[in-house]
Amino acid sequence: MSEQQTFDVVVIGAGPAGYHAAIRAAQLGLKTACIDAALGKDGKPALGGTCLRVGCIPSKALLDSSRQFWNMGHLFGDHGISFKDAKIDVEAMVGRKDKIVKQFTGGIAMLFKANKVTPFHGFGTLHKGNVVKVKQHDGSEVELKGTNVIIAAGSDSIELPFAKFDGDTIVDNVGALDFTEVPKRLGVIGAGVIGLELGSVWKRLGAEVTILEALPDFLAAADAEVAKAAAREFKKQGLDIQLGAKVSKAEVKGKGKKKEVHLTYTDAKGEQSLVVDKLLVAVGRRAATKNLLADDTGVKLDARGLVEVDEHCHTGVDGVWAVGDCVRGPMLAHKGFEEGIAVAELIAGLPGHVNFDTIPWVIYTEPEIAWVGKTEKQLKDEGTPYKAGSFPFAAIGRAVAMGEPAGFVKVIAHAETDRVLGMHLVGVGVSELVHEGVLTMEFKGSADDLARICHAHPTLSEAIHDAAMAVDKRAIHKAN
Ligand SMILES: Cc1cc2nc3c(=O)[nH]c(=O)nc-3n(C[C@H](O)[C@H](O)[C@H](O)COP(=O)(O)OP(=O)(O)OC[C@H]3O[C@@H](n4cnc5c(N)ncnc54)[C@H](O)[C@@H]3O)c2cc1C
Repeated sequence: MSEQQTFDVVVIGAGPAGYHAAIRAAQLGLKTACIDAALGKDGKPALGGTCLRVGCIPSKALLDSSRQFWNMGHLFGDHGISFKDAKIDVEAMVGRKDKIVKQFTGGIAMLFKANKVTPFHGFGTLHKGNVVKVKQHDGSEVELKGTNVIIAAGSDSIELPFAKFDGDTIVDNVGALDFTEVPKRLGVIGAGVIGLELGSVWKRLGAEVTILEALPDFLAAADAEVAKAAAREFKKQGLDIQLGAKVSKAEVKGKGKKKEVHLTYTDAKGEQSLVVDKLLVAVGRRAATKNLLADDTGVKLDARGLVEVDEHCHTGVDGVWAVGDCVRGPMLAHKGFEEGIAVAELIAGLPGHVNFDTIPWVIYTEPEIAWVGKTEKQLKDEGTPYKAGSFPFAAIGRAVAMGEPAGFVKVIAHAETDRVLGMHLVGVGVSELVHEGVLTMEFKGSADDLARICHAHPTLSEAIHDAAMAVDKRAIHKAN
């Protein structure tokens, strides 16, 4: 063991939450180290966490490739564009994704260098007294002591006891981002964000995709009308989503290219079976806290294994903080970004803060789904009086010109104050549009503010303008 090295801030994990915390701390003049255990596909250290290696960015790369392929068969004809024998080269598509991943993980290493964050590549365990022992990939161990330690260990896929990941036939997101060919039949357990996005990728490329979801409602966290509209579009695309389907067994049979997964599940009609060539298990993620904490740290985990923190991401142990997927709140990269920055600023004596009420949610399917703030159901349940206005993309010139008329925007405002309480969108490009809702809510704006703000014509954002006007039944381009 080498001599102990001391830092103002030691960050465990260089995912979105950890690298934001580390860079911001260094910007504020704090001597900062950041430890990460991950290796890339090439076996070399790769910073950036789940998001850059096997999450947000690679999934969006494949979503984009598969969208281009799908559009050739489903949209190009309407534009008068024809072609013969479109083919997908899966190796080239995955290679493009890998190149993007490498560019971005390498980018974090460069940002660390530019900001003078000292990286350590290996597994860190927190001990009493803010000491982090790091087992480096070369087998050596280093000991770091931080005046502050920020735990940003992130999350791992939840494995089902009867469907263990084998990296080939039964996979999580990591495997499903790296299939070497389009599976003929893909089964997905879980109709959440990851199941829908990765299911869409392989469906668009030609797989028969069946998604089995145990819950009776589709996208229960989303606005009910948004979920209904999205389900309708997914059905049109041929995504077979079975609700109330509880899987109890997944048996791999056969060998080599002939391997199949035989699934047993029960739904309202009783016991059912399904045979697929690949199975993606996407039933959620859990905090990556295994072996992270020595027994004597005083840092507590809750019943779900999340690191317990207060509203400022403080663990209650002097100088120990935790951020991102390994603490309560939505498992979203941008939630981790904000917590990482807030904690670095709090450590530096600044007023760091995260507004949980304005965190946007996005599902990057086609159509995209996005929202911020409360749903009508939540407002009804809590007894808040509200008014809602919606507007369809089918009446938006730009959306129709693009051949993308599906979906709508809904603006929800307080019935008395008119303050915007939520915005719910489904349609083309809504991952960008939702930020009008975020901004309005962050600045405590009203539906009338949105309605009086000039929106360029013709743009998709006009749907927000008209939806805001519809809140007071004065939308121009539809009957109110
Ligand atoms: C397929 C998929 C798609 C997604 N798409 C989106 C999306 O579009 N938008 C979005 O907002 N979110 C998305 N997410 C979620 C997003 O990736 C996570 O919310 C985000 O990465 C969490 O950031 P984090 O920094 O908390 O943890 P992570 O990104 O998980 O990073 C934690 C890092 O810490 C390292 N680590 C853990 N323990 C230790 C230790 N003891 N010592 C050293 N290193 C350690 C890990 O190796 C890892 O690199 C997606 C996730 C998946 C799986």
